[in-house]
Amino acid sequence: MTNDKLATLKTRLAEIADLHATGALLGWDQETYMPDGGAAERAEQLATVEKIAHEKFTADEIGVLLDDLRSLADQLDYESDDAALLRVTRRDYEKSRKLPTELVVELSRATSHGVEAWKKARATNDFAHFRPFLEKIVELTIQKGEALGYEENIYDALLDDFEPDMRVSQINPIFQQVKDATVPLVEKVAAQPPIDDSFLHQYFDPQKQWEFGLAVVKDYGYDFTRGRQDKSAHPFTTSFGVGDVRITTRILDDYLPSALFSSLHEAGHGLYEQGIAPSLARTPLRDGTSLGVHESQSRMWENVVGRSLGFWQHYYPQLQKTFPEQLGNVPLTDFYRAINKVTPSLIRVEADEVTYNLHIFIRFELEQDLLAGRLKVADLPDAWNEKYRAYLGITPDSDANGVMQDIHWSSGLIGYFPTYSLGNILSMQFFNKMIADNPAIPAEIAEGKFDTVLGWLRENIHRHGRKFTPTELIARVTGGGIDAQPYINYITEKYSAIYG
Ligand code: ZN
Repeated sequence: MTNDKLATLKTRLAEIADLHATGALLGWDQETYMPDGGAAERAEQLATVEKIAHEKFTADEIGVLLDDLRSLADQLDYESDDAALLRVTRRDYEKSRKLPTELVVELSRATSHGVEAWKKARATNDFAHFRPFLEKIVELTIQKGEALGYEENIYDALLDDFEPDMRVSQINPIFQQVKDATVPLVEKVAAQPPIDDSFLHQYFDPQKQWEFGLAVVKDYGYDFTRGRQDKSAHPFTTSFGVGDVRITTRILDDYLPSALFSSLHEAGHGLYEQGIAPSLARTPLRDGTSLGVHESQSRMWENVVGRSLGFWQHYYPQLQKTFPEQLGNVPLTDFYRAINKVTPSLIRVEADEVTYNLHIFIRFELEQDLLAGRLKVADLPDAWNEKYRAYLGITPDSDANGVMQDIHWSSGLIGYFPTYSLGNILSMQFFNKMIADNPAIPAEIAEGKFDTVLGWLRENIHRHGRKFTPTELIARVTGGGIDAQPYINYITEKYSAIYG
């Protein structure tokens, strides 16, 4: 009896997973190959798929099955796949039941239109065009937060979708600690002579950039029989199953680091998704446990590995061979310093490791003000520019390079930005543990070998998918909780060495 019910539940969840994968495929296509003319119908298609998935998941039948399986859930080994499935499904179910289907559909439609409006508004630097779409999204997001409910802060209700169990009141002191360490570091760097990175700003053949990035991603262990890379305006990773994980990149022909580090970043996300145990396929467990943990993977491969001196001891001669005219006469140390140059800048995705978190803190504060009704969308560009002056000492030259630079808000991802900084912090906690377990790793990285790194990540993080909450996973791996100090030590030591 119980086994029949478990089988029935798994069948329902597999069908729902198929619908979500279908929606993800439609979304991937929208960002990569869909002609502009497809936008209006695509918005309806996505809304329809989301509606059916939401209705199927919030059906009374799922609740009855979960109730009937409660005693089984209590008997199972906590770490077993079935116990995790029942635990995570119940949590998701109780949350989803709080959201009316009409709201889910309206949000899906509003964000599809929002993304299209954002693309157009960003290309023409016309915030006024984007404004009504964003107003609608913020309004619906507030409705969503109220429907989900919260104890301390409406922001917590939204953050929970991306970082389960995390609260603003926990994040604030962690971010404050990073801010207190970052601001004086940026000031000290500013007092040093600026690093010359002019050789990165010249023409680099886009096809050669593409091929070099793909080769490194392959060396990392990204499996191209279960994935692919395409181009999009804003690089991202998506997956439709353990056997189909896709990344995108954006190539600038006059700035070398953009495409390469985007590829390494997205490959970090992709490796996480490709490493999820096949036994979790077509279940709600086939995903990263949180976006913070996801970002710890992308930032580790992009920065901790990909911007390290050891990494470039191996790859720089190959890069010089690929671009002999541009880099033939540039020594390795100059290149290494240039790709790690610290300078306040406008664009988050191109920010250096030291100033990066300041970009996040700005968005986090603005989002809280928007959700609490302290800030109107109409006043957002001014508020944005004011914070860039205060935190980074620079003023955006346009809204396209300011408030409209990121896709997130247009696609309804509000409450998401803090996970980027949490990811930076976690990347060093995980990396330090990995090195403690395998002291040979730095030497291997300097030979272009990543098997030990990937093997450790697979074993300790990737394979579990969503079986453990981020809090549980962090405790299993590090023996403790989230801690900013290893990350602060890392940036302080690395950049003290670079800037003397
Ligand atoms: Zn990322």
